[in-house]
Amino acid sequence: MKTNIQDGCFSISKKPKRVVNCHCDNCKKSVGSPFVTWAIFEKDAILFNTSPPTHTAENRAARTYCDTCGISIAYRHPNRKNVMDITIGCLDEPEKYPPERNIWTKKRLSWIKKPGDIPNHEDYP
Ligand SMILES: [Zn+2]
Repeated sequence: MKTNIQDGCFSISKKPKRVVNCHCDNCKKSVGSPFVTWAIFEKDAILFNTSPPTHTAENRAARTYCDTCGISIAYRHPNRKNVMDITIGCLDEPEKYPPERNIWTKKRLSWIKKPGDIPNHEDYP
């Protein structure tokens, strides 16, 4: 599995462990959308070919962006050392990886209908 962000700022060697829609406020603001669909990979499956800028928040969440095109690429948190989340739109074939659950639904915007018939979690399961 490879990605085609610009001229390939990273590559992925495995399929995602799972895919979630996150409705938390931080994800909304970081991407500027009503929720973010994350593909969650084993950290070792992601290889960055460049050193894209990363913003680390007070809660130690690290969000990585492409410094060429500005898109949001990745999310990591020290409480989840072994995984890295990649925005689903960064994958070459996002159609193959539909979300399996919604998380942080207590923060879901009222005008967002439940996307698909999948489990919902009020916060992080
Ligand atoms: Zn989130």
